[in-house]
Amino acid sequence: MPAMPPLPANDQLLDYVTSCALPTPWAQFTLHAFVEHSTGKEHLAMVLGDVKDGEPVLARVHSECLTGDVLFSQRCDCGAQLEGALQRIAEEGRGVLLYLRQEGRGIGLLNKIRAYRLQEAGADTVEANLQLGFHADARNYELCQPMLAHFGVRSLRLMTNNPRKIAALTRLGIDVADRVPLLVNRNAFNNSYLDTKQAKLGHMMTPATVAEPGAT
Ligand SMILES: [Zn+2]
Repeated sequence: MPAMPPLPANDQLLDYVTSCALPTPWAQFTLHAFVEHSTGKEHLAMVLGDVKDGEPVLARVHSECLTGDVLFSQRCDCGAQLEGALQRIAEEGRGVLLYLRQEGRGIGLLNKIRAYRLQEAGADTVEANLQLGFHADARNYELCQPMLAHFGVRSLRLMTNNPRKIAALTRLGIDVADRVPLLVNRNAFNNSYLDTKQAKLGHMMTPATVAEPGAT
């Protein structure tokens, strides 16, 4: 099958700034920094290996979750998904992780903490966002297009359990050649959160979709 040509980048949305080496416990990635024009937010990409050859690239589009990614929160599964994705990319020696600064499914850190507070009073994660006047999921993936185009990436093997993310990327003209399920880290604190993501946001988390570590 002929390799897909790279998409032209939509440079209206963000600028490429710079890059550096980023050693991690799993591999030495290259960290690339972008800045979004409309918000001034800094978005990041971690890249490993040669991703410009036109073949589908193992990829994760990860939205920032400060509590889960940095503070070890067990209220969600973000930290485990981030770690699992970087580990899988390192195992293959090739891949891209986009780190988008859209905290709390797009509502921001303070509102996420407000939503957690509402959840402690009985709301689920979707109801809490709605009570605060937000959509259930306010994330926007349009930045993925210029970021991936910058690296010459057109086609993904996307690590996700979220069919809405696949649909959003496809609408942007990004080819999702395959979905690679991510292991879900269930615990006593995130059990009902994960059930809500499955029931109300369509996430695919049945055991049948869970990959064995190292499977392709
Ligand atoms: Zn999270």
